[in-house]
Amino acid sequence: MANNAGTTRTKKTTGKTNAKDDRSMLRELFIDELRDIYWAEKHITKALPKMAKGATSDELANAFQQHLTVTEGQIERLEQVFELMDLTARAKKCEAMEGLVSEGQEVMDETEKGTATRDAALIISAQKIEHYEIAAYGSLAQLAKTMGLNDVATLLQQTLEEEKQADEMLTQLAESGININAEGEEEE
Ligand code: FE
Ligand code: FE
Ligand code: ZN
Ligand code: FE
Repeated sequence: MANNAGTTRTKKTTGKTNAKDDRSMLRELFIDELRDIYWAEKHITKALPKMAKGATSDELANAFQQHLTVTEGQIERLEQVFELMDLTARAKKCEAMEGLVSEGQEVMDETEKGTATRDAALIISAQKIEHYEIAAYGSLAQLAKTMGLNDVATLLQQTLEEEKQADEMLTQLAESGININAEGEEEE
């Protein structure tokens, strides 16, 4: 790779020029992002039971419980990805997911227990989480394809579809009644 003499390079030099070698910058970026979403998914498994418990309607509580099971499968899928890449599964703190989950906690503190408004708020929080995941898996699946990691891409694509379904389900729940019920609630 051509490089300006005299400029400081922070990149580790490997002496190899093959873009597909084990230390390509794109591969490092990919691994970093994998570790980020791995942390995020694990963090979500701790949040979902609390969200289920905080939900007013059984439908929403069930949706959260169901997504917990799905999320556990997604964690296993990420572990398969690490394995396919000959890596130890390692998590790296995702500041974004920590923030999104704290916001979910915050709306529970700010809304009244047993109200549809609480559910409407939880749906907003959950959809923000799903959208983060959709962005992460969409990008990762695309990068995997670019790098020719087709088995990895397939696994990430499967999770991407599940996140989209979860997002869709939340929209259905909001539109099928929760938002309308919330609209009729008044402060005591
Ligand atoms: Fe997920
Ligand atoms: Fe992240
Ligand atoms: Zn992060
Ligand atoms: Fe999700």
